[in-house]
Amino acid sequence: KERYNKENKAPERRTKELDGYVGFANLPNQVYRKAVKRGFDFTLMVVGESGLGKSTLINSMFLSDVYSNEHPGPSLRVKKTVAVETSKCLLKENNVNLSLTVVDTPGFGDAVDNSNCWAPVVEYIESKYEEFLNAESRVNRKILSDSRVHCCLYFIAPSGHGLKPLDVEFMQRLHDKVNIIPVIAKADTMTPDECNQFKKQILNEIAQHKIKIYEFPDTEEEEEVKQHKALKDRVPFAVVGSNTVIEVDGKKLRGRKYPWGIAEVENLEHCDFIALRNMLIRTHLQDLKEVTNSVHYENYRCRKLAGLGTDGKPGRISNKNPLAQMEEEKRDHDAKMKKMETEMEQVFEMKVKEKKQKLRDSESDLQRRHEQMKKSLEQQLRDLEEKRVAFDKERLAWEQQNGVTLQELRRRSLEANSK
Ligand code: GDP
Repeated sequence: KERYNKENKAPERRTKELDGYVGFANLPNQVYRKAVKRGFDFTLMVVGESGLGKSTLINSMFLSDVYSNEHPGPSLRVKKTVAVETSKCLLKENNVNLSLTVVDTPGFGDAVDNSNCWAPVVEYIESKYEEFLNAESRVNRKILSDSRVHCCLYFIAPSGHGLKPLDVEFMQRLHDKVNIIPVIAKADTMTPDECNQFKKQILNEIAQHKIKIYEFPDTEEEEEVKQHKALKDRVPFAVVGSNTVIEVDGKKLRGRKYPWGIAEVENLEHCDFIALRNMLIRTHLQDLKEVTNSVHYENYRCRKLAGLGTDGKPGRISNKNPLAQMEEEKRDHDAKMKKMETEMEQVFEMKVKEKKQKLRDSESDLQRRHEQMKKSLEQQLRDLEEKRVAFDKERLAWEQQNGVTLQELRRRSLEANSK
């Protein structure tokens, strides 16, 4: 308690040596066992014109037919429009499972007009971010499968003439969405000098166009610094792929056999294949995933949650500044009130109409009853009149018969009474 000072600063940390063995030194093993049990997943995207050796390289890299006959590589497919296709493959090495997803884009850059051919790639990458974001915001987030693209190998044609406009356009469009690793395809078609020259030229152009390719993370460990430098010096990786195994001096190896010699895939003196594979799988797979999560996905998430379109421009969800938004909300509110008012007025009018109608109905009812009453009274009156006439007749007849009028009789009786 005393170690919290008045400004509520966190207490100072002191490293304390324990007297005995408690057991948390085993923590890394727990993490390790859990990770191994869960397995690893990695999504690798390959982009480049067809025929640059993308599928051959992927098969060479994972020593497995990621692309089989049932699922041919890009060159063998008939359809050439840009589409995004995924192949999944479960790889196992020393009881460690790697679930690899290869995403390729057959038809990329093959058309006469290649403007916008990067669009399906952007769409795919963002759809995976969207999926992940949705899964994260669900109530039950237990099963979060990560199908985001962790790395994009961009294949550059070994032209010796630098980047094509499409290469620049693609990398500029994608560099803040995915880790791009540029790769020079079919490096066996260049001499070592040509290749070095070409690499320099490409790096220059990448810098000139302010393209951000994947950067190796900072490290302080001497061994890692050396390792990173050796890898970094080889960027862009000049690769050779081959699916044929040839025998050289009794040793079986993957390579390409030419009349003048053999280009060995897994020989660092012949090409950078091993460097690329080591980097991708052995040393930097986790970092590629972390950068995807903390930089590219985070960028996407922020843009999305800030209501901007994923291209950073205002989108459909909410494209106003707060004041304009408030103004709009007020307008909406006023319109709503106005609508409610007219609705209430309508209801009121209807009620009045109904009431009036009811009054009219009861009035006519009363009128009717009054008429009936009047008629019956008139009838009664007529009946009485008839009765009176009949009585008068009867009286007259009686007076004539008795020779005296009723009036006379009444007068005589009054006189008799008074006497
Ligand atoms: P994709 O369309 O990019 O997938 O290309 P493929 O992997 O189908 O390869 C197209 C052709 O290039 C095939 O005939 C491959 O044998 C050949 N190829 C693949 N990799 C290399 C390479 O490193 N060097 C050379 N010279 N040819 C290659």
